[in-house]
Amino acid sequence: MTSFNPQQSTSMKARLRERATQLRGEIQHTLERSADETHVRIAEQARDTEDDSFSNLVVDLNLAEIDRDADELRRIDTALARINEGSYGLCESCGQDIPEARLQAEPTALRCVKCQELYERTHAGNGTPRL
Ligand SMILES: [Zn+2]
Repeated sequence: MTSFNPQQSTSMKARLRERATQLRGEIQHTLERSADETHVRIAEQARDTEDDSFSNLVVDLNLAEIDRDADELRRIDTALARINEGSYGLCESCGQDIPEARLQAEPTALRCVKCQELYERTHAGNGTPRL
């Protein structure tokens, strides 16, 4: 059983929704800024068509930022769905309660610390496969 009571679930939902709104704002802001920079670069390239690597770099950086925000949004969606279905606060891997302190620090956590460390070790992109 999860240690989360309905009141805690409600306040966690509010917190997650607030963060989601903030992230959508950031994504919007980054897109707008990216559009501005792209326009500036296009204007500059019209004068100087030699080198477009810096322009590509700017666009890539913005995409990485958007990617991070979008990724967090997806995790928030998952957390909200888990609250609704009553599985929030349970470790996805071992099914044990995730300590409340961990959820307060990281509301979108899907696993307890032990399982998360194991997951990161086995799913880290550049790790050496051990099988
Ligand atoms: Zn676990």
